[in-house]
Amino acid sequence: MEKLSYQSTRGGESGLTASRAILNGLAEDGGLYMPSWIPKLEVPMEKLAGMSYQETAYEVMRLFLTDYTEEELKYCINSAYDSKFDTEEIAPLREADGAYYLELFHGSTIAFKDMALSILPYLMTTAAKKNHVENEIVILTATSGDTGKAAMAGFADVPGTRIIVFYPKGGVSKVQELQMVTQKGDNTAVVAIHGNFDDAQTGVKKIFGDQAFGKRLAEHGFQLSSANSINVGRLVPQVVYYVYAYASLLRQGKIRSGEKINITVPTGNFGNILAAYFAKQMGLPVGKLICASNDNKVLYDFFRTGTYDKKREFILTSSPSMDILISSNLERLIYVSTGCDAGANAGLMEMLGRDGAYTVTKEMQEKMGDFIGGYATEAENAAEIKRLFDAAGYMVDTHTGVASCVYQKYASETGDTTPTVIASTASPYKFSHSVMEAVYGDLGGKDEFEIIDELCKVTGVAVPRAVEEIRNATVRHKRECDAEAMEGMVAKILGLAE
Ligand SMILES: *Cc1c(COP(=O)(O)O)cnc(C)c1O
Repeated sequence: MEKLSYQSTRGGESGLTASRAILNGLAEDGGLYMPSWIPKLEVPMEKLAGMSYQETAYEVMRLFLTDYTEEELKYCINSAYDSKFDTEEIAPLREADGAYYLELFHGSTIAFKDMALSILPYLMTTAAKKNHVENEIVILTATSGDTGKAAMAGFADVPGTRIIVFYPKGGVSKVQELQMVTQKGDNTAVVAIHGNFDDAQTGVKKIFGDQAFGKRLAEHGFQLSSANSINVGRLVPQVVYYVYAYASLLRQGKIRSGEKINITVPTGNFGNILAAYFAKQMGLPVGKLICASNDNKVLYDFFRTGTYDKKREFILTSSPSMDILISSNLERLIYVSTGCDAGANAGLMEMLGRDGAYTVTKEMQEKMGDFIGGYATEAENAAEIKRLFDAAGYMVDTHTGVASCVYQKYASETGDTTPTVIASTASPYKFSHSVMEAVYGDLGGKDEFEIIDELCKVTGVAVPRAVEEIRNATVRHKRECDAEAMEGMVAKILGLAE
């Protein structure tokens, strides 16, 4: 049988091994790597229901990462999903007020990015060995708040790697910023850019596309890779927890075998919900994929109208990790919806770059029929956080609040009673100020750590280690630059001669 391989969504590359796709991060033509097909789950669901998270991860990931040996993959999985997580289940399901919240924030940086970024460094260093890479790998990452810290936590002091993180100054929460600027590890660097997340992400993509710069890096023994959700090494580990969630519901007797579930995901770059779509394509019984946005509701408009239009005001919200107008991973869904026509996809992406908008055909829209867009305003989000806390004593973070609100609206508008998993993407501690304000109103002049202690008092949930760590940590990173100066900043950090 033909072996699964990877190709660019824009047609420039094909036939890559999984390890090569992970090393490269982004295709040279600017496209994203896609597997040549989506493999079907091979283990029956009844059997998966009896498996641990790590065992489930192996059964899912081996189908995508076909050039990793069993030994290599199990080493990566067992190194990643260990006591860095504060629960043995790794991704527990919590039932609250009729929905199932899939808690993806039990890793070392208390956001769902840990689910993939705790394994990516192992996948990448294994890939480097397999492909006889001699260069030092430089991970360039744009972050809307959570990826940067989770990636640094994974790559700090990993031999043969450096990591440089760009975040929007003023565009992340206090805890998110403190987590990043106090990061330890001699191979880590953090830069605040004068711009928003899209500026940071566009800047990183530009550096990847600059072949002269790539050559200059190679002369100094460096090569670039990405820890952003465009990397298939991020996408594949994210598929695992949807399979695990379904198996958990079955194990707990909450659903019957084969019964469909809906999945609601608070969405920014479209990576997390795309993983749920992959899980469905693998054969997981999933009905609707509910894509929840905040006020930056470009995806809501897209699923409603078929037009993706990024030409609009960028709004800073209390769910900053979803403050995104260019959802990179949507390109993978667009590609699939064209029937894997790389030329058609490349044309649309070119339009997005040139005109800031594109419109898909009716036929493509039909192929995306599983997706339903919704959004929550700031006031609706705060009201939902309070409602859920009052009704069930369960405090969710501001991103999960958006998803929860959109799910409530969807359920009451449609009457759909399908059991629903809501991806819970961050600990409320990461956004203490916003969640406490949502429940109790104005907090006066209290500082972040006073609010954190109060959050602990009212929820009875212990303050996570990730928050305790930054209480008194020293700020180690103070670099700033304009979005246009990012490449120069990379050169400076790496010590390249002019
Ligand atoms: C990154 C992030 C999201 C958005 O996920 P995407 O994969 O970018 O769509 C949502 N919530 C939190 C807390 C995040 O960190």
